Amino acid sequence: MRILLIGPPGAGKGTQAVRLATHLSIEHISAGDLLREHIDRGSELGRDARTHMLAGLLVPDEVMIEVVEKRLARRDVVQGFLLDGFPRNRVQAEALDRILTGSESRLDAVLDLEIPEAEVIRRIAGRRLCRQDRRHIFHVDYSPPEAAGRCDLCGGELYQRTDDLEVTVRRRLEVYRSETAPVVDHYRPRGLLTTISALGGVQEILDRALAAISRGPDEAADETRDASSN
Ligand code: AMP
Repeated sequence: MRILLIGPPGAGKGTQAVRLATHLSIEHISAGDLLREHIDRGSELGRDARTHMLAGLLVPDEVMIEVVEKRLARRDVVQGFLLDGFPRNRVQAEALDRILTGSESRLDAVLDLEIPEAEVIRRIAGRRLCRQDRRHIFHVDYSPPEAAGRCDLCGGELYQRTDDLEVTVRRRLEVYRSETAPVVDHYRPRGLLTTISALGGVQEILDRALAAISRGPDEAADETRDASSN
C-alpha cells in the first residue's frame, strides 16, 4: 500500500504517520526527517537545506526530489510506504508521478489532514521532540511526558525544533497555503483524495484515517481516473 499524507505544519502528520505505518506494516518516510538526517551528518545538502528550513521556506525542488527518489529506490519500500511531507507543490507531485511510473507502482490513497490555523500555532508552540528519536513526539499540554523534558519511550532529552518558533511557523503556513494546499487538486480528480479533520485525540484521528483508507476512492472518482488514464 502506498499512501501520501498532506497537511499543514502542526496537523499531526508525523504523529499519525508513525502510527499508520506501523498499523499497515509499511515504511514511514518523512521528507523533513530525510533533510534533518542530512543536517545531522553535516553534508553540504544538509547545510543548504537548513538555511531554507530555518527561514520556514521550502528546500529547492531538485534537491528534495533527488532525496525522495533515492529513498524510494530502497528495497524496504517494496511492501509499500507512507510518505509524509512530500509532495509539497505541483512540481514535486509531477516528479512523484514520474518516479512511481518508472517503478510501475501507483498510489492507493492521499490523506489530507485539515486543521484551523489558530490550532496549528497552539500545537506547534508546545511541540517537543526526543533527541534520540524524532518520531517520539510530545506536547507540553496535549500529550505531556511523565517527567518534564524526558521522553517516556526512551528517556531521551526533549527539545523544541528551531523552525517551530512562532514567526517561522507563520511563514511555513503561508508557504503551505500558497504552494502545498493546491496539491490536493492534483490528486482529487484521480479519486485518491480524502480530507479528514485533524482535530481531536490521536487515536480518534488515527481511526478516521484508517477508515478513510479502507473505504478507498469513491466510484465516481474512480471513473474519472479510468477515463483520464485511457
Ligand atoms: P516537516 O518536518 O515536514 O515539517 O518539514 C520541515 C521543513 O523541511 C519544511 O518547513 C521545509 O523547509 C523542509 N521540507 C520538508 N519537506 C519538504 C518538501 N517536500 N519540499 C521542500 N522542503 C521540504
